[in-house]
Amino acid sequence: MYLTKDEIKLVDQMQKGDRVALGRLMTLAESRHRSLPGILGLINSSAYGSYVIGITGPPGAGKSTITDKLIGQYRAQDKRVGVIAVDPSSPFSGGSILGDRVRMHEHSMDDGVFIRSLSSRGLSGGLARSVSEMIKLYGAFGMDYVIVETVGVGQTELDIMDIADTVVVVLVPEAGDAVQTMKAGLMEIADVFVVNKADREGAKVLASEIKSIISIKSSKDNWEPPVLLTSAHVNEGIAELKNRVEAHKNYLHRTGRFKKIRGKRKEQEFSLIVKENMESEFGKKLQSEDVKEIYELVKSGEIDPYEGAKRVIQKIM
Ligand code: GDP
Repeated sequence: MYLTKDEIKLVDQMQKGDRVALGRLMTLAESRHRSLPGILGLINSSAYGSYVIGITGPPGAGKSTITDKLIGQYRAQDKRVGVIAVDPSSPFSGGSILGDRVRMHEHSMDDGVFIRSLSSRGLSGGLARSVSEMIKLYGAFGMDYVIVETVGVGQTELDIMDIADTVVVVLVPEAGDAVQTMKAGLMEIADVFVVNKADREGAKVLASEIKSIISIKSSKDNWEPPVLLTSAHVNEGIAELKNRVEAHKNYLHRTGRFKKIRGKRKEQEFSLIVKENMESEFGKKLQSEDVKEIYELVKSGEIDPYEGAKRVIQKIM
């Protein structure tokens, strides 16, 4: 894939640790720039080294606070951390709020940390793809961990969490009961549950509700998601959260699941890229006069749609 000299230089600078270059490449990934396939080709051998932690849950649950404190835990061990904070598609989440979310993080000035916001406005379907490509850039930059934080709960968030190796679902007593969590599809995706704002009433009740649902659900594998209580604003329970994330990571490696899920993800991504390329390749040919003639034959009833489809494929292949 063709890259300009400047684009090649940009990748080289990023791989040497240039943060400005990383930021610019992130922007290319966010806008799905035409140079992206070439860039990903250049970094492919170093793109998969980061362990990906997804943090999701309802707005205001404390995800951002938890992310901050978790970064603190990893920094204490000299691990390098990249963050992708996905903001909701709400019309109220303008640029200034995105900026605020970045500034909110305690570690935004730390050299071993890079924080990037990603607005989901206008991206919807492609959002998970942009996130996955940003993770690769972080990998090539040498991040040990990438934390993907999504605000809100919906299909887009579920799609994004599919990219994470360990999914942390954050709940708070005031966001409703465990049944609502199940309805939102969060029960299925959680590897670790956090009931944050443990300083508030109802936290323990919610935690035991979740525990009892987990215990009656037949587990698809041998990992039973732990349910932790945290008070993120005062850093309580965060060391334990880090330990549980690490335990899940070890479990994935020990059982060979890590290799399997990473392989499956690459396979899914590859089929999507093949499909996209085919669509753009054949899309043009579908506009040809020859094909239009076949459409007319089907419209007039001269041939049936199956026969028509067969002829179209013969024409464009
Ligand atoms: P997010 O929208 O899920 O990212 O939530 P934030 O991290 O922005 O937190 C929302 C608000 O809850 C902020 O004002 C935090 O300071 C506060 N907060 C976070 N964790 C706790 C906690 O454990 N207890 C209490 N009382 N407040 C918290």
